[in-house]
Amino acid sequence: MTVNSPLPKTTGCRETPVLKQRGQREVFCGLTGIIWLHRKMQDAFFLVIGSRTCAHLLQSAAGVMIFAEPRFGTAILEETDLAGMADAQDELDSVVAQLLSRRPDIKQLFLVGSCPSEVIKLDLARAAERMTQTYAPHVRVLNFSGSGIETTFTQGEDACLASMVPVLPVSTSRELMLVGALPDVVEQQAISLLTQMGIGPIRVLPAPRAADQFGVGENTVFALTQPFLGDTHAALERRGARHIAAPFPFGEEGTTAWLAAIAQEFGVAQDVFDRVTAAPRDRARRAVAQASESLRGKTVFFFPDSQLEIPLARFLTRECGMTAIEVGAPYIHQNIVGPDLDLLVQGPVLSEGQDVDLQLDRCRAARPDLTVCGLGLANPLEAEGMTTKWAIELVFTPVHFYEQAGDLAGLFSRPLRRRGLLKLEAAE
Ligand code: SF4
Repeated sequence: MTVNSPLPKTTGCRETPVLKQRGQREVFCGLTGIIWLHRKMQDAFFLVIGSRTCAHLLQSAAGVMIFAEPRFGTAILEETDLAGMADAQDELDSVVAQLLSRRPDIKQLFLVGSCPSEVIKLDLARAAERMTQTYAPHVRVLNFSGSGIETTFTQGEDACLASMVPVLPVSTSRELMLVGALPDVVEQQAISLLTQMGIGPIRVLPAPRAADQFGVGENTVFALTQPFLGDTHAALERRGARHIAAPFPFGEEGTTAWLAAIAQEFGVAQDVFDRVTAAPRDRARRAVAQASESLRGKTVFFFPDSQLEIPLARFLTRECGMTAIEVGAPYIHQNIVGPDLDLLVQGPVLSEGQDVDLQLDRCRAARPDLTVCGLGLANPLEAEGMTTKWAIELVFTPVHFYEQAGDLAGLFSRPLRRRGLLKLEAAE
């Protein structure tokens, strides 16, 4: 007998009407993803074709993480480029030639588009093709956009991974692909649990090195570890791979459901599944119970930012005893977050996209105990006496799977505790 679904049969918020917003939005651009991608892909280099603003964003966001030989840089578009007076393609060729002659360790080069390169319509796909012909097989050159016109901050990773899918070789092997850039230690936890159930071979996109490349085809099944990978999901399906839909592995329940969906696909017996998951499940349950004490009975409001909002709202409402007032997400892909929507406790407004002033009005009227939002909104809301959590921290911190479930709850309870302490100090 194979694994049963551990989830109750419910349609939660799957049928809830979505408030569609198409106004001004307050989010970082997709260049931000380079900060975590460059650490995962050890022989890749991300060359942003952008302005000094783009360079400053990367430098300040990466800050102390810059090594002697960084794996990202910015080719600055000068005023002459922007005015169309110089041939930016020629200049790009010469920057890349210099870079690759100095850095023979680079095996994958990503040309990353930005707002300025988009405005002058610099054709980076053509540049990548031309450079691939010049530098193959030693270096593979790909391109994607991290521009703030096109992408929110987690979409940079999606665009990067989606650019890699068309060049994966064809494979007929039955393989599991885990898709999404996770911290190594977290990724290893997932692989270890799946391997103990007898599931394999397991591939990870992105692979740490170009030489670890693997194929994709009709016998590939894939599980997403991040909910913001809509384009990558579509690119893999175009290559014939099949998605294993599941709630995302946040918290004990989400992790168990995610593992169970994969275990079902691979025909794992229930007793094997239970034996492998029992101890970490128990640890996760206890850690969440402890870390979520101060969250129980509290309300939460999500501004759209990372696309993690729906799975996190599911975790906070079902495992931490919170009530969601509004769950805003930049995009809602039903085929990706549908299983989380099924479980999300009914009641919150679901909103897609943003019209920031209207949403701020709703938030101020609701006075939630905790507001999850981007950095640009957090400071003004804190000044108004609201307690906030920076959404970007949820992407930079290890939060997936059983062993991080307590830390995930802790990320939300910490600002509430801090606010409580500040009130106490003020009263003394
Ligand atoms: S890509 Fe656009 S939004 Fe991002 S740093 Fe550059 S100019 Fe700013």
